Amino acid sequence: MSSTFDIIIIGAGPGGYVAAIRAAQLGLKTAVIEKDPALGGTCLRIGCIPSKALLESSELYHEASTSFGKHGVKVGKLELDLATMLKRKDDVVNSLTRGVDGLFKKNGITRLTGHGRLMGDGRVAVLQPGQGISEAEVHSARHIIIATGSKSAVLPGVEVDGEAVVTSTEALSFGKVPESLVVIGAGAIGLELGSVWARLGAKVTVMEYLPRILPGMDAEIAEEGRKLLARRGLDFRLGVRVTSAKKNGQGVAVHVEGSDAVTCEKVLLAVGRVPNTENLGLETVGIQVDGRGRIAVNAQFETGVQGLYAIGDVIPGAMLAHKAEEEGIACVERIASGHGHVDYECIPSIVYTQPEIASVGHSEEEVAAAGIPMRKGSFPFAANGRAKALAQIEGKIKVIAHAKTDKILGVHIVGPRAGDLIAEAAAAMAFGASSEDLARVCHAHPTLSEALKEACLAVDGRVLHL
Ligand SMILES: Cc1cc2nc3c(=O)[nH]c(=O)nc-3n(C[C@H](O)[C@H](O)[C@H](O)COP(=O)(O)OP(=O)(O)OC[C@H]3O[C@@H](n4cnc5c(N)ncnc54)[C@H](O)[C@@H]3O)c2cc1C
Repeated sequence: MSSTFDIIIIGAGPGGYVAAIRAAQLGLKTAVIEKDPALGGTCLRIGCIPSKALLESSELYHEASTSFGKHGVKVGKLELDLATMLKRKDDVVNSLTRGVDGLFKKNGITRLTGHGRLMGDGRVAVLQPGQGISEAEVHSARHIIIATGSKSAVLPGVEVDGEAVVTSTEALSFGKVPESLVVIGAGAIGLELGSVWARLGAKVTVMEYLPRILPGMDAEIAEEGRKLLARRGLDFRLGVRVTSAKKNGQGVAVHVEGSDAVTCEKVLLAVGRVPNTENLGLETVGIQVDGRGRIAVNAQFETGVQGLYAIGDVIPGAMLAHKAEEEGIACVERIASGHGHVDYECIPSIVYTQPEIASVGHSEEEVAAAGIPMRKGSFPFAANGRAKALAQIEGKIKVIAHAKTDKILGVHIVGPRAGDLIAEAAAAMAFGASSEDLARVCHAHPTLSEALKEACLAVDGRVLHL
């Protein structure tokens, strides 16, 4: 039966479901339209969470086979039970997606299952597969938020069949460890899933068009990350253009411009993601997407159509779950009160490989290109007591500060638990800290966070433990 709401949100990923919770907290009558039976979007179902569950399990397996001996821990014959590993991953996903269901109930959010399609004049239809629009399933709201997220990008010549040539979704559930895997794309998703299968025994080759990995991240830290990942078995072929990947008798032939084809058992296509706007009815409200399929919005997340907003992966900016969440909250708070804010200067970005690679703020290249005078300081984990105790001494922390004001402009980490360490840097930057401010904070000993303090001291040439 059709209903009227204050807000209808299309898509229950981290952008949409968090926006819905905040809207309900603010007293708005809220509905969420989601086409998948499970809530949580790409992130919970086929993205952040299952990949991290597999990264954790595969790292334990890898550590047991390579590093336990260093700690004096002997294991007998080590065996991989992939089915149990995959089931644990599915259990983690199911408990979290059910948790979002619980949060919807707790907050009185109406859930509408089906494909949301804009109808103009504040109306949205909820379509069921293979069926047309029924008036009974057309709902209205004063405010509609598009939070439909993204899907894997395609590459001409690479035919994804979901079996031999796959996207990240299928690479989360291979029934057996492939003997060989070619990953096309050296971004976060390619490196993470490549690492999972390499740790479990696959021969993994990462092919990347650019001459470096992790485009956009600080080049020095990315290069150090590449070396460390190569040491752990990832074979990088950078600056190569894949022209096609096609199944043949032996497996998949990956053709590369200017060199011989590589044959492998499986190919993971990980060349980025594109916004989901298919059959969304954008034309009914006169919205056109940009050249990369994204919906343009202003600083208030307004699309230009009265009462219609967009957030998360479907709009320009980093395609990250926490960025989508922040936008969802800010969008709804603006609707409710006129105020809401996202600090785009302080959005951390993390690659959950081993070691982890994390950054917040600007890279050295960006600061240099902007002509901003800078001072840099770095500190290696090899000189940090806790890293030694963990037997994880690879990598370093690099802090970039303004040469005159000392304000921190960027922090880049490759090393143990970089993903957790970056939170302190993000908080400091959000409060406009200088490197001196962070250097003067008392950091507990022995912790990895002392390496951040030392990197800040290094900005001023006062490093203590080197
Ligand atoms: C393998 C992988 C690993 C990742 N790891 C990380 C990570 O570690 N950290 C991180 O920050 N980010 C990670 N990401 C990216 C992260 O998942 C996305 O940035 C995030 O999910 C975007 O949130 P969103 O709410 O904008 O969209 P999504 O999470 O994509 O959710 C959109 C939802 O809308 C639904 N939908 C789409 N169209 C319609 C429609 N017309 N009607 C109804 N429903 C619709 C979809 O079914 C989906 O549930 C990862 C992504 C992948 C693929």
